Amino acid sequence: LFSSPRPAPLPPKSEEAGSSSGTLPQDVSPPTAATPDSLSILTKAKGHYWYPNDGPRILDACGGAGVACIGHGRDEVVKAAAAQMKACSYTSYAHFKTTAVQELSDWLIESTGGAMQKVYLMNSGSEAVEAAIKLSREYFIWTGEPQRVNFISRSESYHGTTLGSLSASGHHTRRLPFGPLLPSTFHKIPACNPYRQESPSPEAFLAARLAELESMFQRLGPHTVAGVILEPIVGAALGCVPPTPGYLPAIASLVRHHGALLILDEVMCGMGRTGTLHAWQSLSVVPDLQTIAKGFAGGYQPASALLVGSRVATAMREDDKTFTHGHTYQNHPVVAAAAMRVQRVIEREGLLGNVRRQGVILKKLLRERLGKHPNVGDIRGKGLFWGVEFVRDRKTKEPFDAREEVAMRVWRAARGRRVLVYASQGCAGEGRGDHIMVMPAYDVSSREVGKMVERIAAAVEDVFPI
Ligand code: PMP
Repeated sequence: LFSSPRPAPLPPKSEEAGSSSGTLPQDVSPPTAATPDSLSILTKAKGHYWYPNDGPRILDACGGAGVACIGHGRDEVVKAAAAQMKACSYTSYAHFKTTAVQELSDWLIESTGGAMQKVYLMNSGSEAVEAAIKLSREYFIWTGEPQRVNFISRSESYHGTTLGSLSASGHHTRRLPFGPLLPSTFHKIPACNPYRQESPSPEAFLAARLAELESMFQRLGPHTVAGVILEPIVGAALGCVPPTPGYLPAIASLVRHHGALLILDEVMCGMGRTGTLHAWQSLSVVPDLQTIAKGFAGGYQPASALLVGSRVATAMREDDKTFTHGHTYQNHPVVAAAAMRVQRVIEREGLLGNVRRQGVILKKLLRERLGKHPNVGDIRGKGLFWGVEFVRDRKTKEPFDAREEVAMRVWRAARGRRVLVYASQGCAGEGRGDHIMVMPAYDVSSREVGKMVERIAAAVEDVFPI
């Protein structure tokens, strides 16, 4: 989901060149939704390339929205999905279990070392987040604390497009048209964003973040908070910002001290994207609830899941409780078969190791080619999850005006250079810069990484000539 990939006419040359002093015409309106009618028609996607009908093939440096993690068109996944369709194309989750869903759920639980104990298979990240919000509420009803109705999330975050998940989100441009959302139960603290939160020392930085959370707990009354929801590594809202060392464990212990649930939204950063299957596995923290999607089925089917940790799962087991929730397509057997096969490919080909190896190369090349560019403020990320933030001024970190749509201009220039990146305005317009994200498939080669970075750097220079 791009912020606004509308192929609008390019701005006049002086503005296109990104001149810092260029003023915007008065009538520039805020970014609007995509206009799909004006997008190219895609005839094929194979390996790491997109094939639109109106031009040459385009190198895939982002897997769409960070989804296509084993490339496009793998025969064995197609066969597994087709075989499942033949065996059983659908059943309501309320009528039967299927072997496909059972195998996938068992595998997922095992992949967490048993930390997660229950799986609800769904079809989008938003659904998984929505389910996490509702399950948190129901859990506290079961355990005799029905007053826990509040959630704390972060101002720089994206959790989905449905009203609950959007209320949890801080993604300015995606919230903008829909206010007021659900303001009485979702409360924001700043994310962990060291580039923009200056601090005399790492200790002072961490203390400031913890104080923000603690004061929100106190403002709401700790006994009213059901959960704290956050992306361990912030995706579309900020552009691949990892937490500072110690941040997540400290946040987790404060959340638990107040009896609330820790909900980690790994829709974008999870399922191998940052080098471990679950992002939390390298961040010294274990969630109570976890959402996954994107790399889960690599785009071969729309797959997401809510994973339930031992605290909630135990309450469910002991009191024989059932989560009052369900979608028609929940626990879809074809989705499960495709997701399972994608995960088997990742295992068999040792792709998490490749994510870590290529991630080192991607980081090095991005920093070499763009690290000194006057309009690149920050390059950060982990594994194959890298963000480049654009600024008007490197020294002051002044962001561009959101209406200049800088990320979209880089997106278009990159498209012209035959490489696809993910552009997001994120929280641009709220004192943060807009950014592009680079998220190659886990089976990318170093040659392809080199090609991607060359083309991306050329595109950045098209927009901001030096
Ligand atoms: N959470 C996060 C962290 C996301 O990045 C996204 C989508 N980019 C969502 C939730 C929502 O997922 P979906 O678009 O599949 O509903």
